[in-house]
Amino acid sequence: MISFPVYLDNHSTTRVDPLVLEAMLPYFTENYGNASSKSHEFGWKAEASVDLARKLIARLLKCEPRDIIFTSGATESVNLAIKGTAETHSAKGNHIITTVIEHEAVLDSCKNLERKGFDVTYVKVNESGIVDPKDIADAITDKTILVSVMYVNNEIGTIQPIKEIAKICKSKKILFHTDATQAVGKIPIDLSKLGIDMMSFSSHKMYGPKGVGALYKTGKLPRVRIAPQIDGGAQEKGLRAGTLNVPGIVGLGKACDIAAKELENEAIRISLLRDRLYHGIISAVKGVRVNGDTVKRIPGNLNISIEGIDADSLMISMKEVAVSTGSACSSEAVEPSHVLSAIGLDKGLMRSTIRFGIGRFNTLEEIEYVIKKISEKVTYLRSISPSNNGNKQKKGEYAEV
Ligand SMILES: *Cc1c(COP(=O)(O)O)cnc(C)c1O
Repeated sequence: MISFPVYLDNHSTTRVDPLVLEAMLPYFTENYGNASSKSHEFGWKAEASVDLARKLIARLLKCEPRDIIFTSGATESVNLAIKGTAETHSAKGNHIITTVIEHEAVLDSCKNLERKGFDVTYVKVNESGIVDPKDIADAITDKTILVSVMYVNNEIGTIQPIKEIAKICKSKKILFHTDATQAVGKIPIDLSKLGIDMMSFSSHKMYGPKGVGALYKTGKLPRVRIAPQIDGGAQEKGLRAGTLNVPGIVGLGKACDIAAKELENEAIRISLLRDRLYHGIISAVKGVRVNGDTVKRIPGNLNISIEGIDADSLMISMKEVAVSTGSACSSEAVEPSHVLSAIGLDKGLMRSTIRFGIGRFNTLEEIEYVIKKISEKVTYLRSISPSNNGNKQKKGEYAEV
């Protein structure tokens, strides 16, 4: 089955799973209570549903339900983790370590802190987009209070050596936060073994609704102290004021429940679709290069540069296919992607870059359709390009990547 336009932009957001929607609906209609209302059945029901969601999330991530703080999404969770730590630890030090390939939520939180007198080190990545844990270790000073490294990159899908980095931080008694928005529900995460102190994630990247997410904060001792960034009530142990988004939280819980059951099979199925997409494209089109790491990568990600092709022209020429050039968050800005710059892609290839995000609801027919469309359009665009005469294609120097 093909559903048009074919949606291959699952790093930007995902469709809400029908089972998630079904679980949420009663919390808009009959069970509309406030989870903080302690005096009647409406409140109790809402509270019970939030408790259940916490349990389902904890089961997926192998943590304690009480370690989950609900927020409005990963951006808020990241702000709470980074600014909240900076606020409570400024007497100890003013140095934070992160990487050059983080999402804007992390980069802009760090920039905000730089304006307030904090020092931030932005560690580089290698040409496949992976952070070397040794570079993190080398950046640590006696003023370092926090290390924040993303679990999975949202443009090139690379999986970072989180366990090794967490271990280094632990040995130096420095807090470790990870933005796991592109990892949760896609790859197995065992918080009981990873040594992560704080982890941000979001519901709408894993087939749940938009506007809800969570921050995991370890309950292990010594207690991790963070300062709330929103004032106004005692919800979430005083760390995040505001009436809980009960339907959203129920949706996130259900999304985690489904992920816990489906993750393994889904990873195989989606990897096969991704590999078919790649092989289909390179067998029809020469001069294709894969960005990122072909091994340490989440199943649904394929980021490629097609030599001599302007990715925007290609996208405009195939409205039946929804993909992204670079990251969606920066797609309104004209600047080249900071992630593609960080892996050393030259400017020409950056403009030729397309990100495919394959997800739960994509079918093989859709993938075959996209291969056909890309092949047709690339061949056509090359044939009319002044730098090419006729339909000549360059030798596939990148095709074997
Ligand atoms: C989408 C995304 C975010 C932001 O998540 P929201 O819930 O939309 O705020 C943060 N980090 C990464 C890596 C993402 O992909």
